[in-house]
Amino acid sequence: MTDRSTRREFLGTLAAFSLFPLEQEKPDLILHNGHIVTMNSAEPAAEAVAISRGRFFAVGKNADVLNLAAPGIRKMDLGGKTVLPGFIDAHSHPAAAGLSHLRMVDCDLRSISAIQAALRERAAKTPAGDWVLGFKYDDTKTEDGRSLNIADLNAAVPDHPVHIEHRGGHTVYANSLAFQKAGIHEKTPDPPGGKIDHDPATGKLSGRVAESAQAFFEKVLPQDFTRDDHREGVKLISKMLAKTGITSATEAQGNPDDLRAYQDARDSGDLLYRAYCFINYRFIDSMIEAGVRTSLGDEWVRVGAMKLVCDGSISERTARLSTPYEGRPNDFGILVMTEEELYTYGRKAHLAGWQIGTHANGDVGIDTTLRVYERLQRENPRNNPRFRLEHCTVINDNLIARIKALGAIPTPFSTYVYYHGEKMRYYGAERLNHMFALRSFLDAGIRATQASDYPPGEFIPMMALQSEVTRTDTKGNVWGPKQKITVEEAIRVGTINGAHASYEENLKGSIEAGKLADLVVLGRDPLKENPSTLVTIPVERTMAGGRWTFES
Ligand SMILES: [Zn+2]
Repeated sequence: MTDRSTRREFLGTLAAFSLFPLEQEKPDLILHNGHIVTMNSAEPAAEAVAISRGRFFAVGKNADVLNLAAPGIRKMDLGGKTVLPGFIDAHSHPAAAGLSHLRMVDCDLRSISAIQAALRERAAKTPAGDWVLGFKYDDTKTEDGRSLNIADLNAAVPDHPVHIEHRGGHTVYANSLAFQKAGIHEKTPDPPGGKIDHDPATGKLSGRVAESAQAFFEKVLPQDFTRDDHREGVKLISKMLAKTGITSATEAQGNPDDLRAYQDARDSGDLLYRAYCFINYRFIDSMIEAGVRTSLGDEWVRVGAMKLVCDGSISERTARLSTPYEGRPNDFGILVMTEEELYTYGRKAHLAGWQIGTHANGDVGIDTTLRVYERLQRENPRNNPRFRLEHCTVINDNLIARIKALGAIPTPFSTYVYYHGEKMRYYGAERLNHMFALRSFLDAGIRATQASDYPPGEFIPMMALQSEVTRTDTKGNVWGPKQKITVEEAIRVGTINGAHASYEENLKGSIEAGKLADLVVLGRDPLKENPSTLVTIPVERTMAGGRWTFES
């Protein structure tokens, strides 16, 4: 098979592809003897792949692909291991999380006293008067059965201002010194779309503020991240993602600093996943002015959608619902931006050729967002706008029909049922059958994605598969069993559907000749695994662009 014409003929029958003249058709790596689940419906299974210049060059049977090997070409025996396309996390906050991991106290701890100890330790190493910052605090995961309050924080750290972000990202907790610096006192009125909590008994500040009230702190928090810090943050989180099999992620609340950090990390060789970087609506004017729009970039760093936020969060129970939270008859959640604001920003972006991604969790939030999208399309129809509904958590038949009609893309939380089971009771068993509604989306032909929303959610793709397939939490409670999907469907959601959400379905998301060589090698086959142990399947290796980004 060295003769050129035979070779060309042979390549015609094998699923092969080349971007280059025939003279250069030489793979640089062959992986063989694998159980390759391709997610390419034309050729769902394969045994071997040849890789050339970061892309799949050929996909097929062992004998055929090995035939392409010329002297000096690297070959690797996969030992029958299962290979999937690299996972695509369609909604996450990796660059921001990377910075937090660099700087802040990780408050994902199981008691208030453990959090106090961690803060105290950090304070001891922090110059007097400087901020002590924390993140990933979760009020439902501490054994105390109550929230962290201002007294806890004052007791732990009296001499430094303390600011702790809730894991969900929509509420913060602070000590007295921090409130002073932010200029908040007991009588400060709630800003529009925000809430400053008070102790119902005493009327004093509780220590917690929600949604837009966080802006009081944003003005006084240290903003001294250097350009290098941003790159280091991407480097740190790159390793964390690669270890779990992720090869692409959407930066769902990106800004110009993130976009620069991704380019810096790409150039220094530290970027291990492909970033689709959303741009927060606050920066849209300067972006449009500079002639930038969605999809500008390369296979590693690409400008994503403009980000808008309609309502509150699921994990912190502020999503805007049509019927109240269980046991809280007057609480319907929060709307963050008005419909008119969403429309004004949305119109600008839509006219300039941007994709739009709007955070919409509750059924009221989704309804409002869809109304805006429908109006934009009615007034200025665009081909294939791929409007995104970030999270799109609580749905009904009417919403599903409208999402389908618009060709919109929901990015529901993939790991919440499994990881955040203790929060599900606030929504009630009946409502859970209409939440994270992958069964409904897929049955309607809607291309929903896998999405972690890290830090609020865990990003491990194997956990996403288990959560979506079993709808069961870590304690064995089943939440919304009507929305179960199969393992194969869950893999599709986490790969090719994610590529579609960023207009890259012809570039990645399946193991197919011509596509980017992004894949994951697993220790066991998820299609044969007991669904209740999917999360324990080890990731042995991850590859992005033909380079191993993780090897166990
Ligand atoms: Zn998010």
